[in-house]
Amino acid sequence: MSLPKDIKDLSKDELAAWLVRHDIKPYRANQIQKWVYVRQADSFQEMTDLSKDLRAFLAEHFAIERLNVLKVQTSRDGSKKYLFGLRDGNRMESVLIPERNHYTLCVSSQVGCAQGCEFCCTARGGFIRNLTAGEIVGQVRDLIREIGGGPEDAMRLTNIVFMGMGEPLANYENLLKALKIIVEDDCGFRFASRRVTVSTSGLVPKIERLGTDSPASLAVSLNAADNETRSRLMPINRKYPLEQLVEACRSYPLKSKRRITFEYILIKGVNDSPADAVRLADLLKPVRAKINLIPFNEFSGCEFKRPEESAVIRFQEILMERHYTTIVRHSKGADISAACGQLRAKAE
Ligand code: SAH
Ligand code: SF4
Repeated sequence: MSLPKDIKDLSKDELAAWLVRHDIKPYRANQIQKWVYVRQADSFQEMTDLSKDLRAFLAEHFAIERLNVLKVQTSRDGSKKYLFGLRDGNRMESVLIPERNHYTLCVSSQVGCAQGCEFCCTARGGFIRNLTAGEIVGQVRDLIREIGGGPEDAMRLTNIVFMGMGEPLANYENLLKALKIIVEDDCGFRFASRRVTVSTSGLVPKIERLGTDSPASLAVSLNAADNETRSRLMPINRKYPLEQLVEACRSYPLKSKRRITFEYILIKGVNDSPADAVRLADLLKPVRAKINLIPFNEFSGCEFKRPEESAVIRFQEILMERHYTTIVRHSKGADISAACGQLRAKAE
């Protein structure tokens, strides 16, 4: 017999439609989701504002899944990597990063990734499958419970970044469902949309859709400012070259004061010269952009090297002289391979 469906795989509209098909009032969907996401219910029995019959009926058809924690590793800088086992035996990871007065959670959107970027550890294992919507929001739900962050707690989870395993825009429908629940005010997680960031390697048609479908913030992994270098590092660039990517970013609907974040991994001798910095500044002129520079995180089996600190500073200076907000991000959790892009649940 197959297991009952995880109720978190359904959007509110889908749940309401399911209820209507069973002669139940659609507004119950809101109540049910409130129990699941706001009150962290683990069973339908707890849902005391529903009739006993309805609770039993729901329990016949649905489960409220938790992710199975296989391992937790804590980095010297305090970030924690959670390895989760999924129903079908696959594995994926999330990273909880303590910042000055809040937590940021880095979530995965796929098991593995099909994009094949040369510098990325996740790419090495290839693509296994998309995460379901329930598995994506499950990372948020379970880690909110884990840190016990109620509204009154000092250290709350306030930021979510889709920078774990996978290319979120390649799992678009499930990403959208998850985003809706994450920012939903009444029966969801109530995150401020500007604190939820979707990072993409540059799936241009999906970037265009995301702009109309979700208020989340956009980050683009750029990593090179000319097509030749970018196509070498990121195969997706052969399909959607820089001209198309920059145009999609230029026309992306942004609320006032918001900008698109461009992530640029600095790799020694590949994309870290002053000329590269100038090219990058020119390339992004049409876009409301800020830039995160990430010195490459070395990992075994990859010959790329991290540049000298002086090259990183020079690169940053060139961008700042050209009026770009430019931050150097030393990835957290590097010692436990929790750094973004380093996530790869090791197969047995
Ligand atoms: N697929 C999406 C989101 C996951 S990757 C994307 O590519 O944007 C998240 C970030 O990790 C990306 O910005 C990527 O450029 C970065 N990253 C990947 N490998 C890295 C490495 N070895 N060192 C530093 N950053 C890396
Ligand atoms: Fe996939 Fe992003 Fe890694 Fe590229 S950088 S392989 S898109 S996870």
